[in-house]
Amino acid sequence: MTQPNPPYPPNPWPPYGAPPPGAPPQGFPPQGMPPSGAQPLPYQSAPPQAPYGYAYPGYGGGVRCPRCGDPRSSPVSFTWWGGFIGPRILNHVQCVTCGNQYNGKTGRPNTTGIIVYTAVGGGIALVVFALIIILAVANSR
Ligand SMILES: [Zn+2]
Repeated sequence: MTQPNPPYPPNPWPPYGAPPPGAPPQGFPPQGMPPSGAQPLPYQSAPPQAPYGYAYPGYGGGVRCPRCGDPRSSPVSFTWWGGFIGPRILNHVQCVTCGNQYNGKTGRPNTTGIIVYTAVGGGIALVVFALIIILAVANSR
């Protein structure tokens, strides 16, 4: 017998603090996302171009193999005539194409340099050997 309470009559205007129906909730777009037109710049994947030029060790600017003309050469670290020091003093390099050994600075064969080097080395060795002999003979008396 109890009649359900009739709902409250709707207010003529929305209650205070609530937006009127049909209006956007806050009246401004969300700020969390950046605009679509402000995307970060695409990563520049193109690597910088390396300057053109030879990068071979021992290549000393225009020096070419006296036999085949190839400018590519590799330094020689050891030779039978100069050990480990001789090829460094004479800038001894070896052609990567024909294997010819020459001077990496002058582009000429190191024949003269090798002769001088061996002569000097041999001369020093002879002097040292002679001194040893002289001292040995002097001490024996
Ligand atoms: Zn060569």
